[in-house]
Amino acid sequence: MHIIKILLPIVLLASTPVIAQSHTAGITIENGVSHALAVYRHNHIHQTRYDLSFQIPGLKNSPIQAEASISFLLTSKEQSLQLDFKQDSTHVQSITVNGRSIPIQFQKEHLIIDQAHLKTGANHINIRFIAGDESLHRNDDYCYALLVPDRARTVFPCFDQPDLKAVFTLSLEVPLDWKVLANAAVLDSIINQQNIVYHFKPSDQLPTYLFSFTAGKYRLANQQLADRNMGFLYRETDTAKIRLSVDSIFQAHRNAISFLQNWTGIPFPFQKIGFVAIPSFQFGGMEHPGVVEYNASSLFLDEGATRENIIGRTSLVSHETAHMWFGDMVTMEWFNDVWMKEVFANFMADKITEQLMGKETFNLNFLVDHYPAAYGIDRTAGANPIRQQLDNLQDAGSLYGNIIYHKAPIMMRQLESLMGKQSFQQGVREYLARYKYGNATWNDLIAILSKHSTAKLYDWNQVWVNQSGRPVFDYSIRYDQGLISQFTVSQHAEHSASGIWPQRFSIALVYPDHQTLLEVPMNESLISLPAAIGLPKPSFILFNADGAGYGLFPAAHALDTAVFHLKDPLQRASVYINAYENMLSGPAVKADSLLLFYTAGLTRETNEINLKLLTRYIPGIYWTFLSPAKRQSISSQLEQSIWTAMEKQPAANFKKLLFKNFESIYTSVSAAQKIYLIWKDQKAPSGVKLTEDDYTSLAQTIALKTDKPNHVLEVQLDRISNKDRKSRLQFLMPALSPDAATRNLFFASLKERTNRQKEAWVTAGLSFINHPLRQQSFMPHLRETLDLLQEVQLTGDVFFPQSWLGAIFGNYRDKASWQVVQDFLNQHPNYNPKLKAKILQATDNLYRAQKMY
Ligand SMILES: [Zn+2]
Repeated sequence: MHIIKILLPIVLLASTPVIAQSHTAGITIENGVSHALAVYRHNHIHQTRYDLSFQIPGLKNSPIQAEASISFLLTSKEQSLQLDFKQDSTHVQSITVNGRSIPIQFQKEHLIIDQAHLKTGANHINIRFIAGDESLHRNDDYCYALLVPDRARTVFPCFDQPDLKAVFTLSLEVPLDWKVLANAAVLDSIINQQNIVYHFKPSDQLPTYLFSFTAGKYRLANQQLADRNMGFLYRETDTAKIRLSVDSIFQAHRNAISFLQNWTGIPFPFQKIGFVAIPSFQFGGMEHPGVVEYNASSLFLDEGATRENIIGRTSLVSHETAHMWFGDMVTMEWFNDVWMKEVFANFMADKITEQLMGKETFNLNFLVDHYPAAYGIDRTAGANPIRQQLDNLQDAGSLYGNIIYHKAPIMMRQLESLMGKQSFQQGVREYLARYKYGNATWNDLIAILSKHSTAKLYDWNQVWVNQSGRPVFDYSIRYDQGLISQFTVSQHAEHSASGIWPQRFSIALVYPDHQTLLEVPMNESLISLPAAIGLPKPSFILFNADGAGYGLFPAAHALDTAVFHLKDPLQRASVYINAYENMLSGPAVKADSLLLFYTAGLTRETNEINLKLLTRYIPGIYWTFLSPAKRQSISSQLEQSIWTAMEKQPAANFKKLLFKNFESIYTSVSAAQKIYLIWKDQKAPSGVKLTEDDYTSLAQTIALKTDKPNHVLEVQLDRISNKDRKSRLQFLMPALSPDAATRNLFFASLKERTNRQKEAWVTAGLSFINHPLRQQSFMPHLRETLDLLQEVQLTGDVFFPQSWLGAIFGNYRDKASWQVVQDFLNQHPNYNPKLKAKILQATDNLYRAQKMY
């Protein structure tokens, strides 16, 4: 719920917030699924079962004939029944209720069943209909259902809310040569001329958002986990990728399942283990039991894979597997707590990757992966708390974002350290056991955890979970005859009026030949550090030396090259991140000086994760925070520094990171010639491994940076054999055209919903037409991208609004585009606040660029 502002003791917090209503009060019929409707149905509908059948033709535009039999117990028939179905009446052919045919009554995305046809006790509704297929993601030879958070109601009539779990029995009729995967195992199959009908066993208890299936021309791989079968469908055709990946993908699942069984004390909680790799899938993965959907390119790696790619894959598989316990077995009551399943999935995935990579690398990876991404939202005027209010499920998509995925894991780690690992684990085990196969809220969890802890969890919860933003740290130090006589550290909220973020971190006093570490138990607004008294004056002070602290730290020696001599890579990363945050909050750290500092680090950095961080910051600063004139004045020097670093660094992975860095920043004619030859001859620089995907990316970059007509993309298209990857490049070609009119037509085509179906392709295309080199010709259309946002949210998947905005506004810096954003917000004073927040988040760099010059 949105920020519970009244101070309630923890016991009260633990009770479920239920919207008060009398039994006779009517539930208004409105679009979406209101919280009031969900609460009413939860109280009166029980033991729901869906028997669903879909006849899916091979041709993706032919309608899907479907039938739903819905059985449930009703405890009150004072109200007519609202079945969610977000289609129009042309989709419904007949409705039978308890054996009698009734007239079709459609209202505001609901099928209304008059109470006269219902009875208390067992009811049975049978509906013949044409399935809505927007969320079935139909392609020429495969389709997949992705129904989170409230898209089940677009496909079939249902009670689309997470706390009405049901058993689903599915039958699918598909072309004879298609393979299928669903939540439950196949019971039997019957050939029907050119088609085959698969009947599946009854599923486990599932909320509607976890119901799913996929069908299509796939390859199938099977492996065992003890006595259980694991099935894997994929469309990859590259034999090297298949050979190098399939076993590792199964192994990653085995490792994750085994870890989670041990940690939770609960065996794998579902009847079926199955997963599918989907080309250009819009998320990293989605955790439907029995049919986990993954983005194929995150699973299938080749010789060009970096260590980061491999860790990323393990982490993704572990995340989706952790959901089987967190989210699938114990499910949130309402989507306002969607962050809980995400934070646990990330938290457990982190524990699994920690085992694999060792504590040191893990801590570094945690810092680099989560902190910059969390700050990226939390420092903005659109920052949201971890827990937000949600009045209608149709807005659930806007809850997702970096706060859930990146700040929440930081918060959870602080909570674990506050409680102690063992007490925390015991508390979570108790929570899982108590709510097994049911639903629970965050407050239910906090109530259980508080039994296992003496810490003031309520105060902690208030600022970390219910409040947005981060603290700013300051310090004061005094010396007496070269020795520290006083050292205090303080914190205050960056934007909000107040707030103390209880947390622990360390400070290092760095001397020429050693360091002294000081623990900082930062539980007040001001603390002094008695352990520092009497110590000699250090060369410099390194704040957040262990990387655990969350907030903006003093930038005292941010750009000192002595930083590169710090032995611990975690400390160097902490400096890199803090320097960037200080550049954004200005004025101590200037963008051009920071760029030089990071560039100097490219030859000296010896850790791959850190090098990756530097190569991420460099293009960001270069394209967004430098004026075109400044950019031009340093471009050849920057190109040279990166190329030299690539030649100097010995490891292949390092070289590749630097080559990619060069690819993103180069602008000179000589660099363009060099890159063109590498692509044309497919001859990578010495020591760099480039794969087909890398050459496709090079072709795109060449097209982006050339204003003369050329055939680079056509040639690249001929080089690609995989059908899915070919279609992607074909889609992107107009967005990369040297002709501005063609690019603008590409954008105009996105106004049609059907052209926005492949969201990952759309965002790639948008980032090309909004690249700083191409912005000028797109400027007249910038406003239209905001005008479309609401529709993008209503019709797209959950991450689409932010990826849409990010791809468009990520690299703008000028006044005129900032004015476009301001005008839009001023003209829409009552704009959906969650979407407005997304705009403020996505345009934060643009806003800060205004202040810098
Ligand atoms: Zn997740």
